[in-house]
Amino acid sequence: MNKQALEYVDKHADEFKNQLKELLSIPSVSTLAEHQADCERAAEWLAADMRRIGFETVEVIHTKWHPVVFAEWLGAGMNAPTVLVYCHYDVQPADMSDGWHTPPFQPTEQDGKVFARGAIDSKSNVMAQLKAAEAVIKTGSSPVNIKLMFEGDEESASENMTAFVAQYGDRLKCDVAIICDGSMADREQPDIAYGLRGVVTMELEVSGPKQDLHSGHFGGTVHNPIQALAEIISQLHNADGSVNVAGFYDDVLPLDEEERAELAKALPWIESEWVDVAAAPAVWGEPDYNLHERIGARPTLEINGIRGGFAGEGFKTVLPGMALAKISCRLVPNQTSQVIYERLRDAIAAITPRTVKAELRLIEIGEPALIDRHSPAVEAAKDAYAQVWGKHPHFVREGGSIPVVVDLQKALDMQIVLMSFGYKGCAAHGPNEHVYLDMWYKGMAITIQFYEELSQRMKRA
Ligand SMILES: [Zn+2]
Repeated sequence: MNKQALEYVDKHADEFKNQLKELLSIPSVSTLAEHQADCERAAEWLAADMRRIGFETVEVIHTKWHPVVFAEWLGAGMNAPTVLVYCHYDVQPADMSDGWHTPPFQPTEQDGKVFARGAIDSKSNVMAQLKAAEAVIKTGSSPVNIKLMFEGDEESASENMTAFVAQYGDRLKCDVAIICDGSMADREQPDIAYGLRGVVTMELEVSGPKQDLHSGHFGGTVHNPIQALAEIISQLHNADGSVNVAGFYDDVLPLDEEERAELAKALPWIESEWVDVAAAPAVWGEPDYNLHERIGARPTLEINGIRGGFAGEGFKTVLPGMALAKISCRLVPNQTSQVIYERLRDAIAAITPRTVKAELRLIEIGEPALIDRHSPAVEAAKDAYAQVWGKHPHFVREGGSIPVVVDLQKALDMQIVLMSFGYKGCAAHGPNEHVYLDMWYKGMAITIQFYEELSQRMKRA
């Protein structure tokens, strides 16, 4: 235990909380151009705090989109391990009219929680990491060298980061990278994610007549593109919920018995989250896999939206000229987005009736990631959670994606640990987003303990 650093956190608990609120009051919405200056302000705010803490190098690095804040402290010496910490300081848009009870950019404390946009996703992670670094640096007790890389474009798909990691790879060199984003399925039971799904997004456009037609003049002679679209997408799944696209599952890494047993430990929490949050009338999906496996270890194909014809108030008896569906697939190791796109494109071509034309366009890609859950870094994290929390963490496979993980895996040779400290039920991206302060303080203690565990393991190795 690093007593000095933990005492430092206790002594500065209120000050840290006020700083969290200060950062939360900056509307660093990366997806809206009108908040460009706010994103810059958040980056500068973080840089100023890093300088005050004593980081030797602090830079606000301007990119095509929003700045990356980079800092470096190498005071633990050449023989100590170096940790790179990734977080993102940008947030999703938020407006009172979405159903907020308090203004989203005026942090409000209530019953041990702070309500604000970015509270859980992901400024509490940013500040837990930054304040843990402050505690070990300021007390002269850091057993590791620390580099910080705080991104400002995560909510707009991190398009920047691939180029950034490639360009600044040399400076990002480290033994271990902490990716601190995401959240846990339970308030009382910690978990560590080691798998992330990839995603490929596409648009399927089905067109028929050269323009919208009068359904009285042409109805019964033209294959309605909305109907044809429905006929096509209704064939993309089998009755049991599996995806009906030739070769779709070919590259999926099968689960072995050991991993299935590990995933099963977290199943009750995943199931209760499903009941609380999804709350659909009944569970659906591949019968041979349990809920955790379906979410984390199996790929999916979703129809995200449909457009076409007339759906406004009143009526227009139109025979539409086209219809469009937004389709996305969540991918798992070792699938690749380009291959899945091509297989789906070919499958759709094979079932498209000759009465219409169909085109599947590729929009965005992100590859899946799997992290070695037996690496020294993950073992160190496991022990840090167990010591601070008093409970052994469960291992989980996340259904979502964190794009930078794949960028780092590709560009640099390092061990990766995914850490999160907050609860999934805290309305990330939704109205009344919040963070539990007790979990947030635990996050600092876990990080401080992780540094201890890591330095012991890396010295022994
Ligand atoms: Zn987010």
